[in-house]
Amino acid sequence: MRAQPKASHFIDGDYVEDADGAAFDSLYPATGEVIARLHAATPAIVDRAIAAAKRAQPEWAAMSPTARGRILKRAADIMRERNRELSELETLDTGKPIQETIVADPTSGADAFEFFGGVAAAALNGEHIPLGGDFAFTKRVPLGVCVGIGAWNYPQQIACWKGAPALVAGNAMVFKPSENTPLGALKIAEILHEAGLPKGLYNVIQGDRTTGPLLVNHKDVAKVSLTGSVETGRKVAGAAAASLKHVTMELGGKSPLIVFDDADLESAIGGAMLGNFYSTGQVCSNGTRVFVQKGIKEKFLSRLKERTENIVIGDPMDEATQLGPMVSRAQLDKVFSYIGQGKAEGATLVTGGGIPNAVSAAGTYIQPTVFADVTDEMTIAREEIFGPVMCVLDFDSEDEVIARANATEFGLSAGVFTADLTRAHRVVDRLEAGTLWINTYNLAPVEVPFGGSKQSGFGRENSLAALQHYTELKSIYVAMGPVQSPY
Ligand code: NAD
Repeated sequence: MRAQPKASHFIDGDYVEDADGAAFDSLYPATGEVIARLHAATPAIVDRAIAAAKRAQPEWAAMSPTARGRILKRAADIMRERNRELSELETLDTGKPIQETIVADPTSGADAFEFFGGVAAAALNGEHIPLGGDFAFTKRVPLGVCVGIGAWNYPQQIACWKGAPALVAGNAMVFKPSENTPLGALKIAEILHEAGLPKGLYNVIQGDRTTGPLLVNHKDVAKVSLTGSVETGRKVAGAAAASLKHVTMELGGKSPLIVFDDADLESAIGGAMLGNFYSTGQVCSNGTRVFVQKGIKEKFLSRLKERTENIVIGDPMDEATQLGPMVSRAQLDKVFSYIGQGKAEGATLVTGGGIPNAVSAAGTYIQPTVFADVTDEMTIAREEIFGPVMCVLDFDSEDEVIARANATEFGLSAGVFTADLTRAHRVVDRLEAGTLWINTYNLAPVEVPFGGSKQSGFGRENSLAALQHYTELKSIYVAMGPVQSPY
């Protein structure tokens, strides 16, 4: 098995196996080949990981932020040196083409270690509050043991986006990757320790939806950060509420991408394609409802069809491949079922909708798909598909499109393409979303807060904002004179 790790879990600075846990296979989505066999964590493994984290955290929290940051920056350097090897592993784990993973996966994880490692020295300061003679000050303190639970679309990035701010703020982490993509996070743990992270501070355990609750319900866990679906978010936030744990929820979306008739057409089409087909459409912030102003509809669709049909589908390890398979057969079936509903409910299939020729039949491949004449009521316009399926909807006016764009329970992202600068700002001000783009789509650099509103979640990843979600404030009042007591 070509991607078999030394053991299933990484706890207290080392690989750990426990064959009592249910065995599961990791498949390479492009061929169906079994690339690793692992065991889910038993309750004993979960306890062991949390105990290691709890033990290690106080000493780590007592170090200076600069010293903690130095270790993270070293981990970033190692990740960049091993970008090729890590990218190949990410491609095996997810099926995403190497053309993408080599520029977007380990590198964005390394960005998080570099950014949080770099800002550590200045970003964890408290405040001095003058009160006349007396004064107060605040300290930003870590929460303790934080749990990270990941989705399968960006396994290495998610492991780093959660790990970097948690660690630099002085917390310990237990991370559970998705059962579909168990491999990348183990390498991240290995690299962090190679960079000098003391043992016990970043632990990885395997498991699925039955393992997650063992972490979320654990009494020694202070915070849970989930990247996953809205349905899972409701369960995790509900369970965390029982013991009033801190939570960050990075959930799903059905984001609008609005193209006005004055937009640069090639740019808008490029943005819409990236926002629907990158990572085979498995991106939470995708702009899957593409609203196109009626005057440019025909031009937009004909050029979109041409460019979509030129996408190179194939072996993800081939550098020329632009679109790989879906992560799993279950996800592929789900996407085909949505395509069936789109057709049944009267949307016009512009291109795609089937299985591409010339790729392994055992791989979970699907053609990039575009539907036009989609209306707001159709299932494909309302539910998150999480596959390469773009819905194009028509609109006439700015007020109309904003109302329709906002008519959803989700609020993760939104985008607008227009040459009119004031209109762009007017529109983003009125769109209900946490992360928005003007004249581009889906760029999420570590310097910028990322996260959603409404049912797409709360809390933010990346940027200085993330540190607030891995710390809490202590306020200390200092009296400079005797106590004035009426008693
Ligand atoms: P999922 O919700 O099925 O699973 C996410 C993770 O939660 C997995 O590790 C899973 O094992 C775990 N889990 C499931 N049930 C649990 C429970 N009851 N308690 C604790 N853990 C539990 O999501 P997925 O299918 O892996 O990923 C796709 C979803 O993730 C999409 O909805 C997508 O939009 C969302 N997503 C969001 C972001 C974001 O940043 N907002 C990023 C990537 C993916």
